[in-house]
Amino acid sequence: MNRPAILALDLDGVLVDGMEEYWRSSLHVAQGFGAPPMASNGEVPPAFRRIRPWVHTGWEMVVVAWALAHGAAEAVFLQDYPGALRRWQARLGQSSAALQGALERHRSDCLLQDRQGWLARHRLYPGVAERLRRCGAEEGVDWVVVTTKGKDFAAALLEQDGLRPTAVHGREDGPKTRVLQRLLEWRQPVWFVEDRLPTLETVMADPRLGGIGCYLAAWGYLRHADRQQLRPPARWLDHAAFCAPFSAWPT
Ligand SMILES: [Mg+2]
Repeated sequence: MNRPAILALDLDGVLVDGMEEYWRSSLHVAQGFGAPPMASNGEVPPAFRRIRPWVHTGWEMVVVAWALAHGAAEAVFLQDYPGALRRWQARLGQSSAALQGALERHRSDCLLQDRQGWLARHRLYPGVAERLRRCGAEEGVDWVVVTTKGKDFAAALLEQDGLRPTAVHGREDGPKTRVLQRLLEWRQPVWFVEDRLPTLETVMADPRLGGIGCYLAAWGYLRHADRQQLRPPARWLDHAAFCAPFSAWPT
């Protein structure tokens, strides 16, 4: 049968474009750690947009914002993201846990004080809501969210569009590989849509996750060479195919 039992979806860059929020929240938290003011406070700097596809977890964006506010060259991150991240985090002098905690506290404050304003800094990609509603209603497929974001933030974003996944697995549930393993034990087949190629590569390299259908979301936050570097069994999923019935997805 050419459809999944469970469709597992990344959130940021697959369902939701939250670039404005990533920048504003990251800069706010970075300034709490002493980052100097930036002229472009309101607008997302193009450098941040171009570095964002390398980001794995939210706290890294705080380091990137802190570095850009200190005049870091974009090219340093684009040429060696892990190295640049490590060096700038050392300069900032905060642990990943402390940075993630500060980012989530800020997001919680925003949700509490200006829920509509915070939600409005995100948007669903076109066609996503309709596609996901069809999953459950017409195709009987369970769709779940697997994200490195905090679960409550992810749920709040989906709620505003009336979207109710079978489950939301956030940062609290551990690495995506562990979540996917639990999903496989629940029902099969599992298909996984993600916009971060290294995450798909980790999934494909894990023998416990054999058989998961891996799809790279073409509309997400991709690095310029991701399409060329994509290797089977992972497949390129363009937006039109995502919106089409599962039988039309690439195999
Ligand atoms: Mg993503």
